[in-house]
Amino acid sequence: MYTSDCPFCHEALHAEELICRSCQRELATPPAPGKCRAGWFAAFTLAVAVAAGTAVLIRGFLEERRHWLGK
Ligand SMILES: [Zn+2]
Repeated sequence: MYTSDCPFCHEALHAEELICRSCQRELATPPAPGKCRAGWFAAFTLAVAVAAGTAVLIRGFLEERRHWLGK
């Protein structure tokens, strides 16, 4: 049963094959699911950190503005 095809020559391949039988090119190994999830987690953490940093900046700006207005 064929589960994928060669990205170079589009020959049908078994998922576990690392070298294409048709064009003899080395195939990229598919990324492990755990690694993929770690990438998403890192991206999510970065997004949260950026959002938190922005929130702190906006809060500081509003605080500062309130001082100006209160003067
Ligand atoms: Zn091929």
